[in-house]
Amino acid sequence: MTIFNPQTESDVPASMKGVWFDTASDRIINSLRLANLGSGSKIETDVVVIGAGVSGLSASHAAADAGLGVILVERGPFAASGASGKNAGIVCMGANMHLSELSDDSYNWLWTETTALAMDLYERSLASGSFVSARMVGSLSLALNSDDSESLHKEVEARKALGLPADLLGVDEIRKKTFNRLALEGVQSALWLPQEGRCHPWSLCAQLAEEARTAGAKLYGNATVSNIQEINGTWLVRLEDGTEISAKALIRCVGPTVHPNERIYALAFAIDLPEMFPIFQDAAPFTYYDFRASDGHVVCTGGPYAKAGQQDVDKDHLKEMAKRVQAWLPELAGKEPKYTWAVDLKVAPKMVPHLEKLGQVAPGSSIEGLGALGVLPGILLGRKAALNLVSTLRIDK
Ligand SMILES: Cc1cc2nc3c(=O)[nH]c(=O)nc-3n(C[C@H](O)[C@H](O)[C@H](O)COP(=O)(O)OP(=O)(O)OC[C@H]3O[C@@H](n4cnc5c(N)ncnc54)[C@H](O)[C@@H]3O)c2cc1C
Repeated sequence: MTIFNPQTESDVPASMKGVWFDTASDRIINSLRLANLGSGSKIETDVVVIGAGVSGLSASHAAADAGLGVILVERGPFAASGASGKNAGIVCMGANMHLSELSDDSYNWLWTETTALAMDLYERSLASGSFVSARMVGSLSLALNSDDSESLHKEVEARKALGLPADLLGVDEIRKKTFNRLALEGVQSALWLPQEGRCHPWSLCAQLAEEARTAGAKLYGNATVSNIQEINGTWLVRLEDGTEISAKALIRCVGPTVHPNERIYALAFAIDLPEMFPIFQDAAPFTYYDFRASDGHVVCTGGPYAKAGQQDVDKDHLKEMAKRVQAWLPELAGKEPKYTWAVDLKVAPKMVPHLEKLGQVAPGSSIEGLGALGVLPGILLGRKAALNLVSTLRIDK
């Protein structure tokens, strides 16, 4: 049975309730709650940020920290209303593909910089008063055939060439790392990435929101942007309620749930696994199922996608996913998942997170390509977008 917290139950939308709501403290939930702007107001600021996911919160923090006036507008009443509040909470580096699959080295920075960011996140989770609950438990990609083993071997080489730790493990080592709890028949080897881990998604967004507020950014909810125009070198952002915000610069962080093409599934079973239980996943990138244990649950996400909005197939996809969890963890046989959810997302194979320039004269950026693996890249690109604008606005002054 799901027990809701009476203090916070009333205003948390049903669409946000689930495993992360039930495992978040009141302090986290309160930090995600956003203030309301008076409707119909006219406001001026240096930077307007759209979207209160990991990207928008990070962009707001970086811009405010550099001394700019920042207003963030979010359509939901809480931060983390989009993908950032519904993801699997796996701290994984790079993009949704193997590093060894890149055709050149122009995106190597994404792997090295997200790795540094992950280290920072684990460290911040240890600081007193931190909201972040994160742990470096490592991850295992499990190969069931020799082709997958071979491609994991290539991945080890590619990571090592960039100075990132990676290993190919045999079955005995995999058994030890997974506390002898996984059914490993058929497994040939596994890619071991010791720096990957997990983070409670709401705890991360609460931390980013607090940092943005502390730096002076103003974060507003129930504020849906209906129109954006560039007029005489200034941005005019109109909200559905008639509010108008004029700003020197714009950062658009509306995330992968806007204009979705695919439907991704997730579920969580109740199970007690050791605190240091690693992330594990099937070896095939993009269509893999991944598994993450913590706080008395194992969360599974991914697998083959459905088409966005195709709710009639939800039951079949979730049934298949539950079977996959039970195949790896036979102790769950005969049990039902405690939570299931589905999210429509914009995703594509080999999609790489990047910034797109907006506007002719007024500085503007849009964060694109985060898809189903965008937490660390979103934080990184949010900061980069803000710092680019900061230098442009300083030059223009
Ligand atoms: C089931 C699932 C599992 C995932 N697992 C992982 C994982 O384990 N690890 C990982 O790294 N990534 C994962 N991801 C991907 C990750 O969650 C996203 O890439 C990332 O959260 C995107 O962050 P964002 O801030 O860009 O977008 P979002 O978090 O979606 O934030 C965008 C915000 O913009 C708001 N918005 C949109 N339009 C408007 C508007 N017109 N006006 C005002 N506000 C607006 C939205 O309400 C939303 O809050 C997963 C995603 C899903 C769905």
